[in-house]
Amino acid sequence: MQRDCDVVIAGAGLVGAALGIGLAQAGLQVVVCERGAAPTGLASDPRGLALNLRSTEILQTLGVWEGIAAQACPVRHIHVTQQGHFGALRLSHADLDLPELGHVCPADRLQQVILERLIASPKVRILWNTGIEASHVNEDLLQVSLCPATGSVNANAAENGHTLTAALLVGADGTESTVRMQAGIEAVRHDYGQTAIVCNVDVSRPAPATAFERFTTQGPMAFLPVGGRRYVMVRAARTADVAGLLALGNAEYLADAQRRFGYRLGTLSRPGARRAWPLLGLRVARRVAGRRLLLGNAATTVHPNGAQGLNLGLRDVDEAVSLLGEALHGGEDPGDPQLLARFAEARDADHARTFRLTDAMARGFALEIPTAAGLRSLGLLMADRLPVFKRRAMQALVLGGQSAATEHPGMPR
Ligand SMILES: Cc1cc2nc3c(=O)[nH]c(=O)nc-3n(C[C@H](O)[C@H](O)[C@H](O)COP(=O)(O)OP(=O)(O)OC[C@H]3O[C@@H](n4cnc5c(N)ncnc54)[C@H](O)[C@@H]3O)c2cc1C
Repeated sequence: MQRDCDVVIAGAGLVGAALGIGLAQAGLQVVVCERGAAPTGLASDPRGLALNLRSTEILQTLGVWEGIAAQACPVRHIHVTQQGHFGALRLSHADLDLPELGHVCPADRLQQVILERLIASPKVRILWNTGIEASHVNEDLLQVSLCPATGSVNANAAENGHTLTAALLVGADGTESTVRMQAGIEAVRHDYGQTAIVCNVDVSRPAPATAFERFTTQGPMAFLPVGGRRYVMVRAARTADVAGLLALGNAEYLADAQRRFGYRLGTLSRPGARRAWPLLGLRVARRVAGRRLLLGNAATTVHPNGAQGLNLGLRDVDEAVSLLGEALHGGEDPGDPQLLARFAEARDADHARTFRLTDAMARGFALEIPTAAGLRSLGLLMADRLPVFKRRAMQALVLGGQSAATEHPGMPR
């Protein structure tokens, strides 16, 4: 049956945009509907996104990495501690015999590069200020009704109120996914009661290519290197305390951060603008429902303590591009339920593992009972000293779940 395109993607966030680029490269006709307006410059996002080696490879295949590589800061060491207690976990590129463990990319620049590449993709049409009103399976096709995004003054008038026919609708529309709700897919969410406050700072004693994570009972704190003396400081705080922290003057805010983190990086100075993200966990029971597929935060939203969310979403993109590309070339229907079931089967274990890891870290390090602090210290020490624990930690955090022993024979078993 004739259709307007092969795939409609809801959401041009990092995951939806990466998917659009990959599917177009694989030969599929794609329409991306993004509720937000077309970008007019760099987004105001002070985050540094830590990407593991697998994500770098995926971005290379998508032709995105070359646009961000010059701004990506390599990470060769990761140092994990707990405020006020002994024990540290030190992960090093040398343990894996690799040149680095990953990179920190400025989020605003990564968004810009990925969207530029999406816009330049010949098989992609992007509809800005456009949401998905409804979608219905009609024989071998999906009908997707479009609507102007609430409050938009500049919608693609020709498309709004119109219907697109496609083989597949991908919900890459974030934690509050409309596609997920319309498809009747239930989600379990957990509010960690924490909010991440992010800003860039200078440090007086930079540790080259080293990222730091420090767990405190108010939530984790991370310093991610972005080059020279500049670091992205992520500080999770109890949501109830966030308004007060945002209202602090720069000097008071830095003094408070310094008390929590200590002087391992010397003195903090030159803070940039602060931005806050409430921290939620979300998991779905299934990611596929009648020619609809969920990817990225729409399917699994994780606490950012392990820097895993985008890495997980990019692995989804990689699998989806490979399966849908093969389907197209084999003359198969890209929305075929069996194909989508194969996708879910291939990706379910990674989602479950990544969610469990980040959720356990978020809950375990938030416990304020005295025995918990001792156990956490012991856990960090064991993970640091015992190769088998270290291998597991690196496999989970750095290698994106792939078998370290297979991919990196130098790793201890
Ligand atoms: C503080 C913080 C630090 C982080 N650090 C890291 C890190 O270091 N490493 C890492 O891997 N991950 C990290 N993450 C996680 C990472 O940011 C997310 O996993 C990732 O950005 C999710 O991308 P997404 O495209 O799935 O969702 P989103 O970024 O939420 O994008 C969804 C898009 O869909 C659009 N949309 C929504 N509804 C509709 C609709 N109905 N129709 C059309 N469009 C719609 C939205 O406008 C948006 O553009 C961090 C997260 C936070 C909060």
